[in-house]
Amino acid sequence: MANIRFQALQSVLTRVIPEIKTPSPKISDYYAANVFDKKKMKEFLSTEAYQGIINSIEKGEPIPRDLAEQVASAMKSWAISKGATHYTHWFQPLTGSTAEKHDAFFEPTPDGNALERFSGDALAQQEPDASSFPSGGIRNTFEARGYTAWDPSSPAFIMARTLCIPTVFVSYTGEALDYKVPLLKALNALDKAAVDVCHYFDKSIEKVNASLGIEQEYFLVDIALFNARPDLYLTGRTLFGHMSAKNQQLEDHYFGSIPERVYTFMQDMETEALLLGIPLKTRHNEVAPSQFECAPIYEEINLAIDHNQLLMDLMDRVAKRHNFKVLLHEKPYAGINGSGKHNNWSMITNTGKNLLSPGKTPKNNLMFLAFFVNTIRAVYEHADLLRASIASVNNDHRLGANEAPPAIISIFLGSQLSDLLDEIETSRISKKIKDDALLWQGIPKIPQILKDNTDRNRTSPFAFTGNKFELRAVGSSANSASPMTVLNVIVADQLKKFKYDVDKLIKKGEKKDVALLIVIKRYIKESKNIRFEGNGYSEDWEKEAALRGLPNIKTTPKALDALLSDKTDLLFSETAVFTKREAHARHEILLEAFYKKLQIEARVIGELGVNIIIPTAVTYQSKLVQNVQGLKALGLGEETYKAQLEIIVKISEHVSFIKGDIDRMVAERKKANNIEDLREKAIVYDEKVKPFFQAIRYHVDKLEQLVDDSEWPLPKFRELLFIK
Ligand code: ADP
Ligand code: MG
Repeated sequence: MANIRFQALQSVLTRVIPEIKTPSPKISDYYAANVFDKKKMKEFLSTEAYQGIINSIEKGEPIPRDLAEQVASAMKSWAISKGATHYTHWFQPLTGSTAEKHDAFFEPTPDGNALERFSGDALAQQEPDASSFPSGGIRNTFEARGYTAWDPSSPAFIMARTLCIPTVFVSYTGEALDYKVPLLKALNALDKAAVDVCHYFDKSIEKVNASLGIEQEYFLVDIALFNARPDLYLTGRTLFGHMSAKNQQLEDHYFGSIPERVYTFMQDMETEALLLGIPLKTRHNEVAPSQFECAPIYEEINLAIDHNQLLMDLMDRVAKRHNFKVLLHEKPYAGINGSGKHNNWSMITNTGKNLLSPGKTPKNNLMFLAFFVNTIRAVYEHADLLRASIASVNNDHRLGANEAPPAIISIFLGSQLSDLLDEIETSRISKKIKDDALLWQGIPKIPQILKDNTDRNRTSPFAFTGNKFELRAVGSSANSASPMTVLNVIVADQLKKFKYDVDKLIKKGEKKDVALLIVIKRYIKESKNIRFEGNGYSEDWEKEAALRGLPNIKTTPKALDALLSDKTDLLFSETAVFTKREAHARHEILLEAFYKKLQIEARVIGELGVNIIIPTAVTYQSKLVQNVQGLKALGLGEETYKAQLEIIVKISEHVSFIKGDIDRMVAERKKANNIEDLREKAIVYDEKVKPFFQAIRYHVDKLEQLVDDSEWPLPKFRELLFIK
């Protein structure tokens, strides 16, 4: 068989860019055409039914059965009119991807005909055969049932002729088995706590929701090259590969124009996304070659997360039409920047006020300060939990690797707001102030327009960027619901405490505004240690952070401890976001995913090393041996084959290291597999098995440089990264 690498390269060279069609030159003509949104509901439902469903959604109340029946019928009519034949409950199990099981609308009738049916029951609840989804021991096989239940706050949509209904996924005993349930609970907690605090300033506010804009980074690679790399298609990342002579040194990709083939893919993906109501707005090249980013306009958080999950799925589907593969792995290529997913988060009231947007009047500024400072204090208080929420085997490659924020959670505010907080901290807020005018002098003026410098520090994991915080440590393949559940719940809990502290002062006879300021001032002081304006990638920061007592946990198995700490336990029980059992289950699932991924990578390294790399090296070495023998037979002197001999010896050395290390790695793996305790197992995998990856890779990459290029079977970095 000819070398698969060259076959792949051949197909890349003959690629034709597909023609793409947009439904209309005007996006507004087709935006959200495949979504059963308010507009379609209005069209397909009676006025009363429409009002009923909107009320239920807005108030978060259960939907009465007869109403569900009407909605189901309307959804069916709409979906069939759009050519859909099937429906599915679409949910987000703890595997990290989305899941669906399709059912046809059609049902045979006793008279031998058929009709299309979709009942309120089928809309409201389903029981997917879900026994193989991770449950962390919650769902024993004897009670294997899990239920999906309609989440009316996220609209149904049509993808590939299937009506998809966003749902939550819970066990028979009511425990959450997905990402959505805890998120919705956290949002509920945030809503209550934030509305209470809003009422200090504005009694008309009835609801607070979080907003989220997710920037998504990804790599593209030609599908043929991808398929010629078993490590890529089995693990999502390259386990071997010598650095390309040129990679991102020149930083010419970031500012470069988008290559034609990629541009066509992007347009196609955007059209599909827009049809699904995903408001994709920006696209550009990223730092690394073949790395790109897209970002939608922010939305209500539950929807934004559904849309991001949907987008990741969509990207993959659309990429196929363009013979691309989308790599969402956090670190597909060693030595080159990895990918993340910046989560831009804020809180917005039903009156349309962004609570993290500085106001025009001192009173508004005090309101802004309250939410701003409480967010800072929440992150300070639960930095370890936030760190745990972004921990994964993939993200361990990025955090702290001078390309992504470090494993230390710190907060960047920009000099203006930083100075402002310092000013408040040292200001004298006298309890004796009776005169309002004097009181407001205690609040320094916040400039209405914050200078761009809020966005300059790219090395911070949690940065204030004008009117929102941006969590930058999230991995590119992650479900944002995990960190966003944590962020919302810690802020909710913090706001509750804030209200308690302020009310206590008011009861003691303090004026409301004075009480607010006193507590804000105290919080600024207490959470000061987490604020850092400098370079988060520097070694100095690591040292300083240690002195400040900030947690710096570099690996997942240990970072996950925060899920079970007493502090977290109290947080979860006070806010009712996770039961103890659910928290333990999640901890278990995450540890299991961690070690299993390392186990798979170890196996792939072993197989590729022994079955592909060593044979390739030895075949080439034999050629050299023949050559040397030939030269010798001609009676030529050593100087004619000295170089060949050197290569022959080097190949043997590398082969021997690879074989020896693989054997030792397998032995360590076997030992690790015998460990019962999941945490310990994950740590042993991390500390005893994983170090071999790098050691083996070193020798494989040396062989890549020694062996005849025409015989090397795995596409090289330069090909994966630069051929488009
Ligand atoms: P940058 O690359 O400079 O961080 P982008 O424009 O790529 O900026 O992304 C910023 C993201 O933040 C967008 O998704 C945007 O819609 C979102 N965003 C803006 N304002 C808010 C807000 N109030 N709440 C949440 N997200 C927001
Ligand atoms: Mg950003």
